[in-house]
Amino acid sequence: MSQHHGPDRRTLLQGAAAASGAVLVGGAFGVSTAHAATGTAAAAEPPMYFRADWGARPPSSPVQVLATPPAYVVVHHTATANSTDYSDAHALALSRSIQNFHMDSNGWADAGQQFTISRGGHIMEGRDRAVPAVREGSHCVGAHVANNNSTCVGIENEGTYMDVGPTQALTDSLVATLAWLCGAYGLNPHSAILGHRDFNATACPGDVLYAMLPDLRNAVAGVMLAQGLEIGARTVPAEDRPTYPPVPEDEPRREFHHGPGRGADDFTR
Ligand SMILES: [Zn+2]
Repeated sequence: MSQHHGPDRRTLLQGAAAASGAVLVGGAFGVSTAHAATGTAAAAEPPMYFRADWGARPPSSPVQVLATPPAYVVVHHTATANSTDYSDAHALALSRSIQNFHMDSNGWADAGQQFTISRGGHIMEGRDRAVPAVREGSHCVGAHVANNNSTCVGIENEGTYMDVGPTQALTDSLVATLAWLCGAYGLNPHSAILGHRDFNATACPGDVLYAMLPDLRNAVAGVMLAQGLEIGARTVPAEDRPTYPPVPEDEPRREFHHGPGRGADDFTR
C-alpha cells in the first residue's frame, strides 16, 4: 500500500466508489500508513468482525465514500432487547437483522450504521466500506443521523438504554472503538463524541447511555493519550455544533427504531 495519503488518492477512491462499488483499494491492514503523512501515531484498531464474517448482503447500490473525514462520532442504541446472550453468534445475527431491517423495511442501500457493538462486547463492521474508509481517513456515508450523515460516523450499541446502562463488555469495546475513530480522524473526543439526540428529535441512545457520554469522552481521551495519539487536532467550533433538539415525549418504541436516520439533506441512503 502506498504511503501517499493526499487528496488525489482520496479523490480517486471516491471516484472509484461511485463508479463501481468495488472493494476499496488497499483496504487490508493499512492502519499505520494512514498516519505516515501527518506524523501522528497510529490509532489502534480494535479486533472486530468484518462484513464477510457475519455474512453481510452486498449493498443494493454503491456506498458513497467522501474524501472529507467525519467531524463527529455518534453513539446510538439499537432499540432492541437487552439480551443476555453474549456470544459471537448472537452478535453476528444482530448485524444481519439490522441490515435486513435497514434494507428491506427502510429501503436503504445497506446497514445504516458504520459499526455495531453487541452486549457481549463484540464489534462488527456495519455498512460496506466502513473499515477501509477509516483506515484511509475517508468517510463512508451511512444512514443513522438524519440530515447529518455526511459529517457523522455512527456506532449502534445493542440494547435499549433508557433505564439501565450497557454491559461492561460493551462499554469497554465502545471506548476502544471511539478511541480508534477519534485517533484515525484526528478528532477531539470532548467535542466529537455525541449522541443521536444531539442532532435529531429522539431519545437515542437512551437516557442512561447518553448520561455516560462525559465519562466515555474522558475514557477515550485517556486511551488516546496512552497510545501516544494527539488530542484535539480537529476540535469542532462551538458555532458549528448541533442544536440539541428536545427529546420527544411520545417516541414510539419499536425494535430497530432509534430515531431519524435519514433526512431531506442526506444525499445517500
Ligand atoms: Zn440513534
